[in-house]
Amino acid sequence: MRGEEHLDEACDLGVPWPEAFAEEYRARGYWNEEVLGSLPAQLPDVRDRQAVVTATRTLTYGGLDRAADRLAAGLRGLGLGAADRVVVQLPNDVELVVLCTALFRLRAIPVLAYPGHRSAEIVHLVNSSGAVAYVCADETADCDYRTIAKDVLAATGSLRHVLVAGDPGPFTALSEVDGEPLDLPAPRARDVALFLLSGGTSGPPKLIPRTHADYTYQLRQSSRLCGFGAATRYLCALPMGHNFALACPGVLGTLRLGGTAVLAPSADPEVCFPLVESAGVTVTSLTPPMVSRWLEAAERTAYDLRSLELLQVGEARLAPLTGAKVPARFGCVLQQVYGMSEGLLNYTRLDDPLSTVLYTQGRPLAAADETRVLREDGQEAAPGEEGELFTRGPYTVRGYYRPGEGDRSPFTPEGFFRTGDVVRRTATGYFEVVGRTGDVVNRGGEKVPARELEEHLLADPRIDSAAVVGVPHPDLGEQTCACVVPQDAAKPPTLGEVRAGLTDRGVAPYKLPDRLVLLGRIPLTPVGKTDKRELRAQLRKRNGKS
Ligand code: AMP
Repeated sequence: MRGEEHLDEACDLGVPWPEAFAEEYRARGYWNEEVLGSLPAQLPDVRDRQAVVTATRTLTYGGLDRAADRLAAGLRGLGLGAADRVVVQLPNDVELVVLCTALFRLRAIPVLAYPGHRSAEIVHLVNSSGAVAYVCADETADCDYRTIAKDVLAATGSLRHVLVAGDPGPFTALSEVDGEPLDLPAPRARDVALFLLSGGTSGPPKLIPRTHADYTYQLRQSSRLCGFGAATRYLCALPMGHNFALACPGVLGTLRLGGTAVLAPSADPEVCFPLVESAGVTVTSLTPPMVSRWLEAAERTAYDLRSLELLQVGEARLAPLTGAKVPARFGCVLQQVYGMSEGLLNYTRLDDPLSTVLYTQGRPLAAADETRVLREDGQEAAPGEEGELFTRGPYTVRGYYRPGEGDRSPFTPEGFFRTGDVVRRTATGYFEVVGRTGDVVNRGGEKVPARELEEHLLADPRIDSAAVVGVPHPDLGEQTCACVVPQDAAKPPTLGEVRAGLTDRGVAPYKLPDRLVLLGRIPLTPVGKTDKRELRAQLRKRNGKS
């Protein structure tokens, strides 16, 4: 019972903007009828242009169009249709672009998981989205995704299909999902197009429903600001499921203009430098720890990196001294990008003075972005004063999909999203990100939600109580520290044992604690909650002794 009956559901998956805002956004032209999944019609020769390039494969726009139509028909043949959720966990490769395009055309909703996720996260994503299909790779050096698929099938109820890119094992090969192209009704701009994952919540990731209208607005504005066009050759080195690599302006921003998306399976310089040279990459985006690695590797590389015009850095705060080396070492413009998958993006401008680029995380993308910096007492912070950033606008969502009960919503009654970021706004309207009020460790751009990890730790029979905090780290910015009270003080678990226990539970490797601190008791606030401020103070005192 899929398909046309579900036409309205794709719209219902989101939290609509109040009608007055929606009307204004349409009237001002922020939202139009553009949808994801179509070819850039403005270029007459588009079908012959390169859409996707990897180290071994090239796909033209014509090829992408055909492959997506055939896959959409094949998926339809399996019974998938409008508003069906599909958890997608594929590496940066041709299949991922084709699949997303096919799902957009089918009006099904990709739920974009990261390659680093393991069964604990995928079970959560399937359950929270009610997904009917899970699409994964066969295996990589450190993970057999078909094993994850088995765990997920056993632990969830909604999945009807597991499709595997590569050797499918007991499941269906993605390459066999095929059919004669169908005449499918086009998505509507107000429909939900995809679910991104929140990185800013302290518990397991929430699903962020992004509509065609709001996401294409983000793409149009970002592309203009970053100078993207048909000549852009964007290297996607971070996982494509992240908003940063997907749509700031990223792969989708490149493809809607007829540029070329160059896909790398990892951001390692050894993997990316050959691609930069062979594909003539003009722009890429990295996290700060990867910038450091690229800078180091560039000193002794024989690859020609001179095609690079723009390097975007985001997801975590860039050290100014590291950023200062970029323009000379790569002969390109540096840009800081600070944003969140829920919406708001801040960019430094391509013609900003270097001091602004090095010392701020940019200013809002669009004039329509409303931002407030509120002090702890609820008053608007003056320029230079710290406060928490709140935002709303035409591409900042108004709520999560099925947020779950008991969690305090980060959306205010006026529709502002409470970012959890502590920022300072400069006199010229740029933000400096100072820290977080929320309980998330930002490990060089990878977000580790404290409460989610604490719950996994508490499932370890050797652990009585646990609290997770970020501790400063020179390269990553922060590392994850698990503070635990052991059940048996005479036989406490080691860090290796704790990590092994979490791995057995299917927790993603990037979420495993880097450090373990054994405590007699966890400090509590007067109301009996974990006192993380006090805990951090205690850790600072111990400083390196753990
Ligand atoms: P995500 O939604 O996963 O992209 O995570 C968004 C969060 O990452 C933000 O709320 C910030 O805490 C952090 N973040 C993103 N970009 C930056 C940046 N350029 N500098 C500092 N923190 C950042």
